[in-house]
Amino acid sequence: MAKNSLAGLSAINIELTSRCNKKCWMCGRRKIERDYPDLTIKYGDMDYKLLESIAKQIPPGIVVQLHNNGEPTLYPYLGDAIRLFKNQITQFDTNGKLLLEKSDEIIDNLDTIAVSVIENDPDAEEQFVILKRFLDLKGESKPTVVARLNGDVDSKRYEDLGLIIARRLLHSPMGSFNYRRSFPTIPEIGICLDFLNHPAINKDGDFSICVRFDPKRYGVLGNIRNQSIVELWNSEKRKKWLKFHKKGQRSQIPLCSYCHYWGVPTGCGSDSESIKLP
Ligand code: SF4
Repeated sequence: MAKNSLAGLSAINIELTSRCNKKCWMCGRRKIERDYPDLTIKYGDMDYKLLESIAKQIPPGIVVQLHNNGEPTLYPYLGDAIRLFKNQITQFDTNGKLLLEKSDEIIDNLDTIAVSVIENDPDAEEQFVILKRFLDLKGESKPTVVARLNGDVDSKRYEDLGLIIARRLLHSPMGSFNYRRSFPTIPEIGICLDFLNHPAINKDGDFSICVRFDPKRYGVLGNIRNQSIVELWNSEKRKKWLKFHKKGQRSQIPLCSYCHYWGVPTGCGSDSESIKLP
């Protein structure tokens, strides 16, 4: 791998903020706050100058997801942040609470957005009303809207809105393991696709191998304030971990050793049954 290369990088998560405005029952943050208070994340926003310096290093054409552990619509400079990545494909996951308040910053700016709908969410009706109003407001403009249905959620009314439906299995609140009722999809190459091409930067500038929930920071390769993305992507630690992945020994890597995910989002339900062949 050439030293100045970002070969393989196809997507990156950048955490605009780790603050959140919702308390979902299945979120790892709740468990950390309750059971491991010493690990509680210090919630806050990414410094805008840090974000600008990151944006300058991101190659054009790749996917930039502007979320990690927090709710991205809470970021005070959301519209400007999205515009920094006008040469990339921009996306974020949201709980949708602020879709209307932030519509001016999102519509005709962000490329795609995934609204997370959670099984047994007491706010589901309110969320649906906001989502419908947002769709009316944006009309044919971007972003394309995806309904990300987590766990047992009836998809019918979201399908009726004409949205793309992404079904997701629930897993342990502490990370990507113990998926409910299913096995994660494993790619034929036997290497986690997220490790190969999809790192993450948190609001403090920590650069990690992937966006998995990692309160103990096992997957951090370094900090973007001290090293460039190219340096971190080509770092000795990442090269060593890549060798383990290639040898089928992800158990040797602290974060990957207890992760059940392979970089392929795993759905549930019966999408295939609704596909009509010509
Ligand atoms: S195996 Fe899990 S922890 Fe390791 S890179 Fe892949 S998604 Fe991340």
